[in-house]
Amino acid sequence: MKTLEKTELANLTTMKVGGTADRICFPTTTDELVDLMDKVISKNEPWSLLGGGSNILVSSHDIPGTVICTTGLNWIEQLGPDLLLAGAGVKLPRLSAYAAKLSLSGMEFYEGIPGTVGGAVVMNAGAHGSNTSQILETVTVLNIEKWKIEVLTPKDIQFGYRISTINPTKQIVLSTKFRMLSDTEASIRTRMKENNTARQKTQPIKDPSAGCTFRNPIELNMPAGKILDSIGAKNWHVGSAQVSQVHANFIINLGNAKSHDVCKLMSKLQETTYEKYNVLLKPEIKPLGIFNKSEAIIWTNSDQTANNSFIITNNK
Ligand SMILES: Cc1cc2nc3c(=O)[nH]c(=O)nc-3n(C[C@H](O)[C@H](O)[C@H](O)COP(=O)(O)OP(=O)(O)OC[C@H]3O[C@@H](n4cnc5c(N)ncnc54)[C@H](O)[C@@H]3O)c2cc1C
Repeated sequence: MKTLEKTELANLTTMKVGGTADRICFPTTTDELVDLMDKVISKNEPWSLLGGGSNILVSSHDIPGTVICTTGLNWIEQLGPDLLLAGAGVKLPRLSAYAAKLSLSGMEFYEGIPGTVGGAVVMNAGAHGSNTSQILETVTVLNIEKWKIEVLTPKDIQFGYRISTINPTKQIVLSTKFRMLSDTEASIRTRMKENNTARQKTQPIKDPSAGCTFRNPIELNMPAGKILDSIGAKNWHVGSAQVSQVHANFIINLGNAKSHDVCKLMSKLQETTYEKYNVLLKPEIKPLGIFNKSEAIIWTNSDQTANNSFIITNNK
């Protein structure tokens, strides 16, 4: 198993922000991952999970303990005429392209989402009116508390908008089975292309970002991007972290952004939105690593912190 000591995590995230991890391991099989977790837990070391790093803000401070990066769990298998099995680390565009080649429809919305299968299940990734929960057959997880591999069906998991009850501090997604529908490859590819075109027009896909910063609030009948646009947030910046001009719910890294810049900017967006709409925007982006209290406040009352490895230091 590839293991790197004292390695910067920024390059393993799409936002290109993140400090140095004590150790990062890349298991390539389920057995390797289970052995690794066994060792980490028996030593009582801190640990955290990273998939494609595309919906996460990694702290620019050092990251203690072991980061387990799942991108080596990268296998896809066709189990039946309309059933696909994918390892947790398979990248979503690769999976949708694989399905298209087999004339299997249902994953066209994954085109252009830079995450992995594990991250997609946890976040209930979705786009263009579809989401991950709609195509799931089963999810196999390592349950850390019970120390047991479990096969969950959608009935065992609650899914909401960009959220699920899979808790990455207690459950590691190992693989997922997807129920597909057959269609012609040509029509599947047409839909994928349409999805991509729509994305290119509306999102800053060439800039480093972690996707949508905030979840759409249920209290207002307006997406977070529109809300932020309405407060004039486009181009606001702190250090090298800037609200994208293309889509106000994306924070982009102009080159040298640090996690505290991103946190400050998010905090300013939350405060200004609250003043205008009396609604607290909840981050969609999850934290990983060490944040001080004044940074961590942006996740207060957010479901994203309850279930992520996240260390809060001092009272600053
Ligand atoms: C340009 C851009 C466009 C995007 N567009 C969309 C979009 O249209 N729709 C959408 O839903 N999202 C979108 N995203 C966000 C992101 O790609 C998705 O949320 C994706 O599913 C996250 O997967 P990941 O593997 O990158 O997860 P990470 O960011 O690595 O992690 C996210 C969370 O999942 C946990 N996790 C990761 N792997 C596992 C595992 N195997 N087991 C348990 N927990 C795990 C992590 O600990 C963390 O809590 C976009 C992001 C970018 C940068």
